Amino acid sequence: MHFNGGDQIITTTALENDLQKNEKEKLKQSSKSNSNSFQQLRQSYNKRRVHRASPYIDTGHKKVLVTGGAGFVGSHVAEALLARGDDVVIVDVMNDYYDVRIKENNLQRLREMYPDDKRLAIYRGDICDEDYMLQLFEKERPQWVCHMAARAGVRPSIQDPLLYIHSNIQGTTQLMELSHKFGVKNFVFASSSSVYGGSKSTFFTEDENVDNPISPYAASKKACELLAYTYHHLYQLNVTGLRFFTVYGPRGRPDMAPFKFIDRVSRGLELQQFGDGSSSRDYTYIDDIVDGVLRAINRPYKYEIINLGKGSGTSLREFLDIVQKHVGKKAIIKILPDQPGDAPYTCANVSKAYDLLGYSAAVSLDEGIQRTVDWYMNEYRKYAY
Ligand code: NAD
Repeated sequence: MHFNGGDQIITTTALENDLQKNEKEKLKQSSKSNSNSFQQLRQSYNKRRVHRASPYIDTGHKKVLVTGGAGFVGSHVAEALLARGDDVVIVDVMNDYYDVRIKENNLQRLREMYPDDKRLAIYRGDICDEDYMLQLFEKERPQWVCHMAARAGVRPSIQDPLLYIHSNIQGTTQLMELSHKFGVKNFVFASSSSVYGGSKSTFFTEDENVDNPISPYAASKKACELLAYTYHHLYQLNVTGLRFFTVYGPRGRPDMAPFKFIDRVSRGLELQQFGDGSSSRDYTYIDDIVDGVLRAINRPYKYEIINLGKGSGTSLREFLDIVQKHVGKKAIIKILPDQPGDAPYTCANVSKAYDLLGYSAAVSLDEGIQRTVDWYMNEYRKYAY
């Protein structure tokens, strides 16, 4: 099913131009009345700012290649695609960046949910392996690609930049090359809020300059966004890059702060807090991210970069309070200096995600942490210890 959206599009540039023009004219007349009319104009634009429907929404059955499908986000996306009736082809190299048992467990869970189901195929392989991936595309012929595989993590990328260049830049380019050759209808990939690392703004918006990445990981994601534009330009590959903001939830990555905090607080172990606790993150619950990813898969835009976050920041101190409340224990905290490469503040402006995808985060931090703690206590501890 598809339809054409006829909603009026108001671009930021048009809005700014009109506001500037209006402001200049009014300034000539009276500086007092100017601020009123400026406000009125902004309000009238806000009223006209309606949900911009996608020009083409495909809700039909799909065969989706999910790279990194054994990982945190990829396995949740695969589960959601299968649940709605799509076919899923997973490819994952199962690297040992963190405990491989977690990834095995993620795949096992999918196999048990869909035993003998022809809709699920799992491949263990490297997306950078040209022959392997060519054979996979020839055999499976996926028409939709959801590229979640990557070397993630800011700090390890400073230790081993070449590994990140390989998996992230070479891997993504290899996939886009195959995607255009095999006529893929939509290529959705995971970028990251890390690209805003060098930004001075407080509310990160997609059209701001992100030419100052402060870690090899961030630079690799920015490079993927640039190459994605190239593939759109040269071959008209439909590409959407989603900048995720600190994702947490059940089956979350053990190298990330949300998991580490829950783990260490519940085990009564000391945890390291980098900085004075005032640094702030936009923590996004996994179900909201999955919702955004599925919405992006259904809407083949030509080339878009879109933030996916909760849209509000939480300080580390506040985050720890919520963790302690749900774990039911007091944290033992060791305070250390800020880490190089870490952005002090990340908060997503998610209005583009709302306009283009109809996305808005639904899970509060309190609810999300409670669900994560439940998973940690009732599932994770059973196989991890
Ligand atoms: P993850 O490490 O759990 O999952 C990534 C998966 O990709 C892993 O299972 C890994 O084995 C696989 N992989 C890595 N290199 C590969 C290769 N060359 N070939 C095949 N498979 C390979 O990480 P995640 O948290 O699920 O992240 C998913 C995506 O989202 C990544 O692209 C990451 O950079 C991005 N992202 C995540 C977050 C977050 O907070 N989790 C934030 C911003 C961006």
